[in-house]
Amino acid sequence: MSKAQLTYKMIIIGDSNVGKTSLFKKITSEKFENNIISTIGIDKRTLYITINTQEGVKDVEIQLFDTAGEEKFRSISISYFRGSNGLLVMYDITKSDTFQNLSDWLENINSSLGNNDDYLAILLGNKLDLVEEDKNKREVEEQDAQEFCQINKMFWGGECSVKDINIDKLKNMFKSFIEEIYKKVGSNIKKEDSLKVKKNEKSNKKKCC
Ligand code: GDP
Ligand code: MG
Repeated sequence: MSKAQLTYKMIIIGDSNVGKTSLFKKITSEKFENNIISTIGIDKRTLYITINTQEGVKDVEIQLFDTAGEEKFRSISISYFRGSNGLLVMYDITKSDTFQNLSDWLENINSSLGNNDDYLAILLGNKLDLVEEDKNKREVEEQDAQEFCQINKMFWGGECSVKDINIDKLKNMFKSFIEEIYKKVGSNIKKEDSLKVKKNEKSNKKKCC
């Protein structure tokens, strides 16, 4: 049984080949519960992260999802997005088309989840190592990505190299992402409780009238 105070659903999306599965595997490789649902084309693993909030330290259970096969935005069903609190949107800084396709991804997110406060979309540019090796390989400027985040109310997660980043740094990166999600979404457990209260109030009313 998990003793986490909070549970967030987080999904990783973006074009093929940007590094989603590499990130998914790297962050969950260490002693975390492994729960692969490959038959439906989606991998799910659970990881636990402790975050700092204004209300103190909180243990968070993160149900992390990665598409296992055809991840083209049109083929991802709405049910994959449903209930997400965090959307990790990845692109490849050496492939401009993976950045240009972000508008389509956002459209897909908005039509699946609506534009509300139940989730935070985080943008992450990957394959920084290739640019560090050869500056000419850069096809997306960091400033353009930051502007894209401002316009689309996303959180800028920065540029990284899933290939080179060590596990501690990667965990810190995730920790900061979860803290941002908490700032926006808060405790979904509380929300469920308040929903239950509302339902009870309703049913009480019915009894009365
Ligand atoms: P996905 O299709 O988005 O799930 O992408 P994958 O995780 O399968 O990665 C696609 C390819 O990019 C693989 O060959 C990875 O090894 C490679 N890759 C992933 N992250 C990085 C990175 O940070 N740097 C470099 N150079 N290659 C990466
Ligand atoms: Mg993949």
